[in-house]
Amino acid sequence: MTLNELIDMLARQPRVAVLTGSGISAESGIPTFRGADGLWKQFRAEELATPEAFRRDPKLVWEWYRFRRQIIREAEPNAGHLALAEMEKRLPHFVLITQNVDGLHQRSGSRKVIELHGNIFIDRCVRCGKEVDRSLDPESNEEIPHCECGGLFRPGVVWFGETLPPDALDRAWNAAEQCEVFFSIGTSAVVYPAAGLPELAHRRGARVVEINPEATAVSVHADLIMRESAAKALPEIVAHLQSVKPS
Ligand code: NAD
Ligand code: ZN
Repeated sequence: MTLNELIDMLARQPRVAVLTGSGISAESGIPTFRGADGLWKQFRAEELATPEAFRRDPKLVWEWYRFRRQIIREAEPNAGHLALAEMEKRLPHFVLITQNVDGLHQRSGSRKVIELHGNIFIDRCVRCGKEVDRSLDPESNEEIPHCECGGLFRPGVVWFGETLPPDALDRAWNAAEQCEVFFSIGTSAVVYPAAGLPELAHRRGARVVEINPEATAVSVHADLIMRESAAKALPEIVAHLQSVKPS
């Protein structure tokens, strides 16, 4: 499929599902896990983003999360996030599924966002399950934050080895199953089950578009590959949708 064919297809207002990964936030200055700047101190993300790491050393894990929250607070959505928010306005059947925990899609105006891996600004009590949104709070200096019930708070994200929130996963599968165009953007598609979504869409006959400067596991299923950054490729697509009336 060519870019022009994609634009023609979008103009007919098909059902669109989009999956984003950390690559779309890279140009906002938020490191991806597997990129060159993915290390923190000497640790790989896979050594910190696990329930075992939290049990072993909650103080260390919290230190890393506070560091990441601060980067995200200071970051701004980029042209890629903004283009997706604009696409949502112009396409009546549009679902955005993200593996990101940074909330930048919401901050750039996207409304229908399915967060598969939670949100980094949520504190969740490991004892009573209470959740507190910290996105507007200054970061607490408490080394390990505690709930009023006495339990430890942990970040409200999905760690390696944990299951995804069933409701979000359900909605994501439905969107992938039913869409006619599926975008895979800035994800290496190695983290399951999210990585299975492009494959499912492809099997159900959707056109798959990949936006990623590098080849990934999705590339073999892709009908159109844009080997560009998200902040460059997405505004290009949206510029052509200007003739489509916003809803
Ligand atoms: P990943 O680190 O495995 O892959 C990132 C992908 O983005 C790579 O394929 C890379 O080639 C691509 N990429 C890099 N720069 C890009 C750009 N400018 N435009 C488009 N693509 C670009 O990340 P992942 O597959 O998302 O999986 C890691 C998990 O870690 C995620 O599921 C997420 O939960 C978590 N995470 C989240 C954030 C965030 O919220 N911003 C950041 C790091 C990790
Ligand atoms: Zn509690």
